[in-house]
Amino acid sequence: MPVAVFINGKRTSFEERFPEIEEIKLYLGESKNPLAKEDIGIHIPCDNPVCEGKGFNIDTFIAMMYFKKETSKEELIKCMGYEKMGGRNRRDCLSHLKIKCEIKYKKS
Ligand SMILES: [Zn+2]
Repeated sequence: MPVAVFINGKRTSFEERFPEIEEIKLYLGESKNPLAKEDIGIHIPCDNPVCEGKGFNIDTFIAMMYFKKETSKEELIKCMGYEKMGGRNRRDCLSHLKIKCEIKYKKS
């Protein structure tokens, strides 16, 4: 099932958010199989069991590439969550996820 993405309370599809992308290949971690376009949601959950957080924001990563019209990029992105340290203390989750992305844009 495609992951629904909500922007300003409205459900949007990948095409609505990135209309100029013809083809995208997104690899997570060491995976050799790219995620399908329909499966690219706004968040990938974190695998840290004590993480109280949101996971990885792939949409922002793609949006930055899209904005700069980049065709290939590899980056370690940081989890947006945190770990509870007891009491009111917390620290940033230290999980990272390697992302490799290739984008083919539509000819304008
Ligand atoms: Zn995390």
